[in-house]
Amino acid sequence: MVRIIQLNLRQEAIISIVKEKGPITGEQIANELNLTRASLRPDLAFLVQIGYLGARPRVGYYYSERPRYSNLVEEINKLKVKDFKSVPAVISEKTSVYDAIVALFVHDVGTLFVVSETSILAGVISRKDLLKTAMGKLDINNLPVGVIMTRMPNIITTTPEESLVSAAQKIIEHEVDALPVVRPMEEKLEVIGRITKSTITKAFVEIGLGRIGEGGSQY
Ligand code: ADP
Repeated sequence: MVRIIQLNLRQEAIISIVKEKGPITGEQIANELNLTRASLRPDLAFLVQIGYLGARPRVGYYYSERPRYSNLVEEINKLKVKDFKSVPAVISEKTSVYDAIVALFVHDVGTLFVVSETSILAGVISRKDLLKTAMGKLDINNLPVGVIMTRMPNIITTTPEESLVSAAQKIIEHEVDALPVVRPMEEKLEVIGRITKSTITKAFVEIGLGRIGEGGSQY
């Protein structure tokens, strides 16, 4: 069992008492610990809320073998990139920096992927890459994005079968906003989607609204 919630010593003690002696009343647990029932109330409520303990009126507290949240962790780890990816906003290497800025607005994105005619990944352009260039003295109408983009093989990518958690970890570790979703194509990478910080936020909201996890996801 993976414990994702740090319990305090008193909570650990309550769990071992309930494990050993449950079902047991709050009063009896308090006696075991030489504490008052009232001072235990917040810890008991917390342990019930996170699913370590069950509580039944007139029966008492019992240990729950399978905390609700460990189930949720499993469900979250089952989420795949392929079920959340969105359409990538792509441009060619020859696109001018000016047109790339226009593309940011047209596609309403923060990151553009630079691809060949056959959708092979060549590079990535972020909004700050474009902003930085636009602040300089270069003629952005005649400057191709190929000159300023972050280029392969230095692109962090994800694949349809990768877990969403692992893709989110890459976003955090490499401090980027978006990952191209790719599949291998004759020793190169074809762009078939994108995962962004917004994707992860949306998934998080779905989880919070109970649409993902515990009973399966809607995706
Ligand atoms: P911004 O620059 O707008 O804050 P990012 O944090 O995503 O956006 O980008 C930071 C830098 O990393 C930029 O220079 C960008 O070209 C590059 N970059 C963005 N996404 C990736 C990626 N998936 N792989 C490698 N480099 C990336």
